[in-house]
Amino acid sequence: MSQSLQAIRGMNDILPTDSVWWLSFEQTVQRWLKRYGYQNIRMPLVEQTALFRRAIGEVTDIVEKEMYSWKDELNQEELTLRPEGTASCVRAAIEHSLTYEAPRRLWYAGPMYRHERPQKGRYRQFHQYGVESLGFAGPEMDAELIIMCASLWKDLGISGLRLELNTIGASEERARYRQALITYLEQHIDALDADAKRRMYTNPLRVLDSKNPQVQQALSAAPVLMDFLGEASLAHFATLKELLNAAGVAFHLNPRLVRGLDYYNLTVFEWVSDALGAQGTVCGGGRYDGLFAQLGGKPTPAAGFAMGCERLITLMQESGQSMPTQAASAYIVWLGEGTGVQAMLLAEQLRAAGLDVIQHAGGGSFKSQMKKADASGARFALIIGEDELKAAEVTIKPLREAAPQQRCAQAEVAHWIQHAG
Ligand code: ATP
Ligand code: MG
Repeated sequence: MSQSLQAIRGMNDILPTDSVWWLSFEQTVQRWLKRYGYQNIRMPLVEQTALFRRAIGEVTDIVEKEMYSWKDELNQEELTLRPEGTASCVRAAIEHSLTYEAPRRLWYAGPMYRHERPQKGRYRQFHQYGVESLGFAGPEMDAELIIMCASLWKDLGISGLRLELNTIGASEERARYRQALITYLEQHIDALDADAKRRMYTNPLRVLDSKNPQVQQALSAAPVLMDFLGEASLAHFATLKELLNAAGVAFHLNPRLVRGLDYYNLTVFEWVSDALGAQGTVCGGGRYDGLFAQLGGKPTPAAGFAMGCERLITLMQESGQSMPTQAASAYIVWLGEGTGVQAMLLAEQLRAAGLDVIQHAGGGSFKSQMKKADASGARFALIIGEDELKAAEVTIKPLREAAPQQRCAQAEVAHWIQHAG
């Protein structure tokens, strides 16, 4: 006997009871993106491996151990399933000269792939909405991005998210800091774990966001990046903070926040929930002014963020809001010689009028059809029996309210439903 086939570990089917939440989430997010003037872009799920190595950085969790990469023997190409969207989005912007004439506000959505240990809130195929503003240098864009997040959380009915904010300055400033940090880490080497030791020369800033409490303890007196920043970086950050204050968006300064990817500069931020356990970050982003040039494009300032759909949808589901419904307006029950055609024509007529209608399929007694009508969540059962057929009428039976059933001419049903209180 052959074993039954299953989905790949860490890659999930999203079944209808959950997908109603996904649809509602996506509808809200897309309405919100439109309100802020962002345009949709769609990139392939597969890119050259070199793109992610160059954009994300060699010494990062993603590139070191999380990418699904393989060699396409047919074309002799090294390929990777995208672990994130920013690199592809900037690659596309360079390839199609998208910022040649004017800056762009863009968004994308879809699955991302990372070979991580699956657990609640962490999957191998997960989904993001990404927002990228390309060609804007000023701190007002950093503010726009953060403020729009705050507005989305309201739209989604999610509360209790904390904004963690930091600035990591310009690359020369970081280089000076890096030296000072390495010196400090060398003095505390005994308290570091293997990961930290391995990274202290290749990517010492990443040691700062170690999740190991012992390492965090050892870092308590480490030099702080903010002290190494020049005037321009500090001014950018000061304006951002002013704008956030003016908008009433509270933030929590976190000098240890450096983000897991190499391409960031100046502003970095994360939105964190305490309701999701260890997988509490629902959205992360920042400025990445160096990325265009790093990928061979014309230097172009840019900033953006990505949010994790699974984690945000879990928060929606746990927020106490009622499950979004997809119930139809009407369920058509039909029984008797010739009623099938009439049921079908009525269903099409009502749909053409803009109503959501389920036509019963699969036969069965009147009683069993009525049971299905009820279970469908539809507001009305529309009954066509031989009597109704002869009279070109329909019996309308309210399923959700205590009102009497009544007969109605078939041609009037759409109007009747649309005006039912
Ligand atoms: P984490 O620290 O949780 O690994 P990250 O810094 O790797 O997150 P980003 O690359 O910034 O995450 O991606 C943005 C968002 O995408 C995260 O804040 C999170 O909500 C979501 N996300 C990232 N990795 C996963 C995953 N494996 N499964 C589900 N969601 C994820
Ligand atoms: Mg990660």
